[in-house]
Amino acid sequence: MEVGPTTHYVMGGVKVDADTQMSRVPGLFACGECGGGLHGANRLGGNSLSDLVVFGRIAGAEAAKFASGHGDTAINEDAAAAVEAAALAPLDRPSGESPYVIQHELQDVMQDLVGIAREQSELEQAIEQIDQLRIRAATTSAEGNREYNPGWHTALDLPNLLVVAEAIARAAVDRTESRGAHSRVDYPDKDQHFGNVNTVVWQAADGSMETSHIPVVGVTPELQAIVEEMG
Ligand SMILES: Cc1cc2nc3c(=O)[nH]c(=O)nc-3n(C[C@H](O)[C@H](O)[C@H](O)COP(=O)(O)OP(=O)(O)OC[C@H]3O[C@@H](n4cnc5c(N)ncnc54)[C@H](O)[C@@H]3O)c2cc1C
Repeated sequence: MEVGPTTHYVMGGVKVDADTQMSRVPGLFACGECGGGLHGANRLGGNSLSDLVVFGRIAGAEAAKFASGHGDTAINEDAAAAVEAAALAPLDRPSGESPYVIQHELQDVMQDLVGIAREQSELEQAIEQIDQLRIRAATTSAEGNREYNPGWHTALDLPNLLVVAEAIARAAVDRTESRGAHSRVDYPDKDQHFGNVNTVVWQAADGSMETSHIPVVGVTPELQAIVEEMG
């Protein structure tokens, strides 16, 4: 039996409005493990279930409200055709690298360089390697047809996996402290500055990723009283 660390939960995620669960993209909602910010630096055991029940309901209700308030949506045919062509490209390409190979290499990069114990030079190395994998991911080829084709699905997943991997690595480089599940061997202590901010990674105008900090919203007096009452 192999015994080793594995991914249990991802603390970061899509930045959403706390009251509606809507992202910065109008009409796009996120909740549960793909939403960010709810559990802070370390999710306590069992809290995922309550997160899903509470915020899943809010996201669903708000999404329904948004949809009913926006009527028909005109589809941009050119944009749809471009998305379709990009999606079918791995199937149409006569030769190219297997998407599984790139996926496995990405897993190795994240496990080895962005894992439990993190360090500046390894994180920077990971960002460079993710860049190289992105170039290769643009020309993968998937065998077979559109039905039940996991190779094709992996080819479609890869660009998204690479975005998430890079965002995680960049946020880890930026946070020069250790807090919760984020452990920097070169910065083993907490830094008060980072205790007051969330790290947000977003796309800059030139397509590159930018990292910024936003202040953590404090607990309301009402909630603070409950926390203190519970000891
Ligand atoms: C080993 C382990 C133990 C855990 N133990 C606990 C625990 O004891 N208590 C607790 O509270 N939490 C626990 N968690 C965490 C909890 O299980 C997860 O956080 C929670 O299930 C996430 O739910 P979700 O609905 O947000 O995402 P998911 O359950 O991951 O649901 C996402 C869904 O989207 C689907 N999907 C993905 N891509 C696409 C696509 N392109 N199109 C359509 N569908 C798509 C997936 O197939 C999946 O069904 C544990 C997690 C792990 C890994």
